[in-house]
Amino acid sequence: MKLLSVRCNHCGAPLEIPKSARYVTCGFCDAQLAVHRSGNAYSTELLEEIKQTTDGLVRDVAQLKKSTEIEQLDREWELRQSELHIHGKNGRVSVPSKTGALFGSGFAVAFGVFWMIMAGGITFAGVGMGAPAVIGIFPLFGLVFILVAIFGGISQYQKADEYERARTRYQQHRRKLLQANAEQE
Ligand SMILES: [Zn+2]
Repeated sequence: MKLLSVRCNHCGAPLEIPKSARYVTCGFCDAQLAVHRSGNAYSTELLEEIKQTTDGLVRDVAQLKKSTEIEQLDREWELRQSELHIHGKNGRVSVPSKTGALFGSGFAVAFGVFWMIMAGGITFAGVGMGAPAVIGIFPLFGLVFILVAIFGGISQYQKADEYERARTRYQQHRRKLLQANAEQE
């Protein structure tokens, strides 16, 4: 059997090993060694060090995966946000809010009621003075306005609720990923 001369990478002792050996235990210091061959040169490496390097790599990859997960989460949230944002006239973008929905539809309903009272009064007087009964439709516009305001308010309120829940989910998920990252370090 052909023997190779290598040096123990741990204690420096000269070792004679079979040419086909991939691993060897140093007879002087008991170190577990891996045999590397590059061209005609042979060297040994402590398995413990290889394991540490591998462990480090596994950690790095896991961390990389985590930060990629965070980036992806951020991207998804941005997308979801833009779906749930309210796009006003002149390109103004705002976050849907429950208070906004309540106040908005509240004002609109109040306006509808005001309209019905005003138009009702005018129509009543007009019909009394001989105007055609068809003008009785004007107060009803207020009713339509009120219904639209109520349904619009409900839909905006739901949107705001969905937005809040999506934001909470996003924040919780992100915190969890960050924590997992911190534990790995
Ligand atoms: Zn040794």
